[in-house]
Amino acid sequence: MKDDGISTVHKQGFWPRCSGVTITDGQVHCSLDFDRQYDLVTWSRRYSAHTRFLQLKTERELCTFVRAWGPLDIVAGTSSLRVEAYRAFQRRLRALANLLISSGDGHLDGRECLSEYCAADEADHALSPLSAFEISPTSQFVLQSFIRGANVSDWIRRASRSQVQEAVAHVLQSEFSDRVFLAVEYDGSQFQIAPRWNIEFFRDAMRWLVWNDRIAFCPECKELFKLTSHRWKFCKDECAKKATDREWRREDRRKRKLQRKATKPERKADICLS
Ligand SMILES: [Zn+2]
Repeated sequence: MKDDGISTVHKQGFWPRCSGVTITDGQVHCSLDFDRQYDLVTWSRRYSAHTRFLQLKTERELCTFVRAWGPLDIVAGTSSLRVEAYRAFQRRLRALANLLISSGDGHLDGRECLSEYCAADEADHALSPLSAFEISPTSQFVLQSFIRGANVSDWIRRASRSQVQEAVAHVLQSEFSDRVFLAVEYDGSQFQIAPRWNIEFFRDAMRWLVWNDRIAFCPECKELFKLTSHRWKFCKDECAKKATDREWRREDRRKRKLQRKATKPERKADICLS
C-alpha cells in the first residue's frame, strides 16, 4: 500500500481509485492507485457516485465500487476501512437524503427522519477514522442548544412539531455550512466573489451531491430516484398507482366499517319493537 496518499490527494482535489481490493474479516483492504486519480467533484457528479454508493448491497459490489471510486476515507495514508464503516456512512447518507426531503414538501415525517439521522450520524462518527480529528461535530453536539444534555432520541420523541422543525433546520445548516466558504478571486482584471464548496474527501463529495441532486427513496418499491417537479414522491406512475389503490381500499374498508356500526343499533331497535 502506498503511504503518500494524503499529500497527493489534498493538493489538487483529486481522489485515487484502488487496485487489489479484497475483504478479509470484515475489513476492506486496497492499494491506492495514484496513476488513476480522478477530479473528485467533476467525476463523482458526472457519474453519480453517490447514487451508486447508496445502492450497494453485497460485499462484491462494494469491492467493485472501491476499485472504481477509491476508499471512503484516507487518513494518515491509510485507506483500510471496515465494511461496517462503509455501511454506516451509507445509512447516514440515506438518512440525510430523507431529512432533506422532510424539510421540503413534507411527505416524510420530520420527527422520524431527524431521529434516524441522529442515530445514523452517531454510528458513522463511531466508525469513521476522521472523527478522531473532530472535522465535523456530531448531531448530538449540534443539537445541544435544543436538548440541553437530554438524550437525543428522548428529546425528539417529546418535542413539539415546531421544535422538531427548528432542530431539522439547525442540523441541516450544520451539515453543509462547514463545507461552504466565500471565495474572493482576482483574475487580473476584476474580482470574482462567490460561495464555493470545500470538498477534500470522498464522503464530502457524496454529501454535497445528495444535497445538490435532491434524490429520494420511493416509499413503494424503495428504489432510489431523482426528484423532479413531476416526480416528487414516487419513482414511477406504477408505484404511485399502487399506493393510491391501496389508500383507496383502506378508505373504502373504513367507510364500510362505519356504515356497519351505524346500522347495528337500528336492527336491535327493530327486534325490540316486534
Ligand atoms: Zn417506486
